[in-house]
Amino acid sequence: MITAELAGRHRESWQYELAEAITDPGQLLEALALDPALLTPALAAAARFRLRVPRSFVARMRRGDARDPLLRQVLPIGEELIDAEGYSGDPLGESAANRAPGLLHKYRGRALLVTTGACAVHCRYCFRREFPYEAQVSEGGRWAGALMAIRADTSIEEIILSGGDPLSLSNARLTALTGSLAAIPHLRRLRVHTRTPVVLPSRVDDGFVAWLRTLPWPAVVVVHTNHAREIDNAVTGAFTRIRATGVQLLNQSVLLAGVNDDEEALVALSGALFDAGALPYYLHLLDRVRGASHFAVPEARGRELMRAISARLPGYLVPRLALEEAGAAGKTVLGD
Ligand SMILES: *Cc1c(COP(=O)(O)O)cnc(C)c1O
Ligand code: SF4
Repeated sequence: MITAELAGRHRESWQYELAEAITDPGQLLEALALDPALLTPALAAAARFRLRVPRSFVARMRRGDARDPLLRQVLPIGEELIDAEGYSGDPLGESAANRAPGLLHKYRGRALLVTTGACAVHCRYCFRREFPYEAQVSEGGRWAGALMAIRADTSIEEIILSGGDPLSLSNARLTALTGSLAAIPHLRRLRVHTRTPVVLPSRVDDGFVAWLRTLPWPAVVVVHTNHAREIDNAVTGAFTRIRATGVQLLNQSVLLAGVNDDEEALVALSGALFDAGALPYYLHLLDRVRGASHFAVPEARGRELMRAISARLPGYLVPRLALEEAGAAGKTVLGD
């Protein structure tokens, strides 16, 4: 999918960086001086869902530490081959919520547009790791059906650009898409769900910032950060450029065993997000997607962690613990 972008006349500099991302498990292990014994299970798991991680994200990992919380999010491991009970390929029943190719309309007033299947990083816990993108992705001319469905339903006030990751698209493609959306009078807000500013901050380039500035609606960018160490100076710079356009900047995280399932990690994450200019929005319990059961944190433990961090942080730095259930009218926010 990236190839189609690269075939374009003008290649943006972040696209070179994306093309240089590490996709070979052996290379990742070598770059971090890790035990070569990890290679066999990594290759087996990568055959199901490919490894992909930008080098600038790898540079934030600790060399020689197989338990590094950033590495754990991207390194394929043997546990992914376990077929745990209750874990499936489509845990949210999204196939059933499709209004048009690439349009998910599950929640009142908000419709989610799957703009592309491509991501700058492949997160091992991703609930879309088995998503049938070929059938659902609304790319290029195929956005037409989704646009028609949005135009026909005046209850839709907000479009969420999602994926995959919408920032895998070029600025020209984003501009064309929002240009078409701008002709639909009942839209009031635009939201962008993206992990790219965190894993490939150079993507937030002048053209992207110019795109944000020209949007005809108030916009919200929701980034995805799971650990305080993901936020370095380059990421802070990307967040700052986004915020300078007047766009609201929020963050969503997934509660992940071995990554951020402890009080100190969550408190540090909220603090680091605030320092970089983003407010915590959701802390999601893991979606039960096949191959990700080793990341699961029990709901009771999630609630316990929420109580612990609420006691230490101002209310605006406490994310909402959320659970997504197939068939529900919205995300379920779990209280105390
Ligand atoms: C998460 C999600 C939304 C947005 O939910 P909010 O609670 O408004 O953040 C909308 N549509 C779908 C299909 C979603 O998964
Ligand atoms: S960036 Fe988001 S959509 Fe892409 S692999 Fe990671 S969690 Fe999944």
